[in-house]
Amino acid sequence: MAGDRLILEPNGAEMSDGQKLAAPRILIVEDDPEMVELMQNVLSLARCEVHVARAGGEALELLHRHAAARQEIDLVLLDIMVPGMDGYEVVARVKADPVLHNTAIIMTTALDSVSNKTLGLGLGADDYLTKPFDPQELLARIDAVMRIRRSEQAVRRRNEELSALIEINRMVTSSLELDKVLEATIQGIREILHVEAGSLVLVDEETGNLVFRNTFSPAQGWVTGRTIRPGQGIIGHVVQSGESRLVNNVERDPYFMAEVDDTGIVSRAILCVPLRIRDRTIGAIEVINKLDGEFTRQDQELLEAMAASVAVAVDNANLYRELADFAEELERSQAQLVQAEKMAAIGRLAASIAHEINNPLQAIHNSLHLSMHERLEEGRRRQYLAMAQAEVQRLIEIVQRMLDFYRPSRGGVEPANINGVAENVLALAQKRLQHGNVRVHTAFDPALPPVPMVPDQITQVFLNIVINAIEAMPSGGDLWLETSLSEDGKWVLASFRDTGQGMSSEQLANLFEPFYTTKADGTGLGLAISYGIIERHGGEIEVSSQLNEGTTFVVRLPVNRASK
Ligand code: ADP
Ligand code: MG
Repeated sequence: MAGDRLILEPNGAEMSDGQKLAAPRILIVEDDPEMVELMQNVLSLARCEVHVARAGGEALELLHRHAAARQEIDLVLLDIMVPGMDGYEVVARVKADPVLHNTAIIMTTALDSVSNKTLGLGLGADDYLTKPFDPQELLARIDAVMRIRRSEQAVRRRNEELSALIEINRMVTSSLELDKVLEATIQGIREILHVEAGSLVLVDEETGNLVFRNTFSPAQGWVTGRTIRPGQGIIGHVVQSGESRLVNNVERDPYFMAEVDDTGIVSRAILCVPLRIRDRTIGAIEVINKLDGEFTRQDQELLEAMAASVAVAVDNANLYRELADFAEELERSQAQLVQAEKMAAIGRLAASIAHEINNPLQAIHNSLHLSMHERLEEGRRRQYLAMAQAEVQRLIEIVQRMLDFYRPSRGGVEPANINGVAENVLALAQKRLQHGNVRVHTAFDPALPPVPMVPDQITQVFLNIVINAIEAMPSGGDLWLETSLSEDGKWVLASFRDTGQGMSSEQLANLFEPFYTTKADGTGLGLAISYGIIERHGGEIEVSSQLNEGTTFVVRLPVNRASK
């Protein structure tokens, strides 16, 4: 008899996924006391849990009460002719109820006209039984309905798992931050697999040890951040072998080590799968003690599917991190280079700066000396002191300008006028221009709009170009510095034209290359760095040159674009 397998041995029966079946919880809705007693006897013998309601309204209430207590009634044996609300109405209400609609219903009726039966089925009842019925038939029908119901449940559960898996996959792969990926994984495991504890370990690349990165457990024993050696315990074995391990009785497993797999709770069963990427095992996910039954192949497949996307996400996060570190390092060394070039530029100005400082110092010295003369009339003394003070002021300005230029860029973008920058550069290079016999001719457009820039970076660019011009005219010459607005009003231009040696096509082809220099003491960095600065401002540098005649540099900056 079909019913024997399921109902008479409810605790021994196994479903395809290995889960043990609980005894079905059955509600009899019937007002005939003799009928109730008969069914109760049959069902109790079959070890079902039996509840009874004598009217339709009472039945609905009881169903709701059980659902609220998470002890859902699996199946209702419903008489059509019950007092109050009749059986059809109960079927209609149960099937329309969002909480109860999965409850199986077998209608029992003495009316055996076809239309009565079909009415019940049409409303959603799962089966019908005509009274009087044979007890064996009752059990067989219940068995059949319960089997369908359970496979429906399995499908529903599988669906839930799959959509949770898709959701995890989305969460896990949408983040490039390792911590977020790991947290999302552990959250997902908690939701999908009903287990007591779980953890995610990653292999530490340097030591080869396994680090518990994220864990959950009802006890406090399982500490995040704890480290174990490769090969230790089930989790260590899984990482070493790269193969999943499903253990439903840890005492019988040769790899189980209480101190390693210990979670603060008593481990009975462990399911552990490796995190693998490109033939390498980078860690593992371990879950402990399934709450409803034993771990199954299906659980293993589910966890492996999760592990596959987690491994990819962890790998992505690591690559991204490396890339970010590299970019940061690059930025740091670039900033160092810019500063080094600044120092080199200052170095090139140093000799003339010494003069620039020496002259006012000499004047101060003289003024003070004269003012100390004993028989000096007061008016004269004041005049000398005023001269000394003016020179001191000049010195302060020179030093301030040098310091402003010298200190590392703060990198703040602000609207500024390039005329001001050009004037500042000429002031910085003033002595050097004088000593090099360079005549400076300026034509600044007074109506230029301010443009967004990092002023001391643009200062550095202009100073490089001016120093290059001076160095291209060893026996002196002319330097024209002009600023203007492009015809379309979109660019502000600064052009620097010298009457120096000019450049060969080979020089022209290489001058922006880092470390390209034709000078004995050159760094070859000035123009490379200038190029980078102007590019980051969204601008351009153009060069034209004629050997033995001279060179023109034109820097253009966009009026309407913030620098990066
Ligand atoms: P450095 O000045 O240290 O050599 P730069 O990057 O500033 O490095 O310049 C690279 C090279 O470009 C110079 O060595 C020189 O050959 C050439 N160059 C730059 N500006 C001029 C110029 N105004 N006239 C002629 N050659 C120039
Ligand atoms: Mg240079």
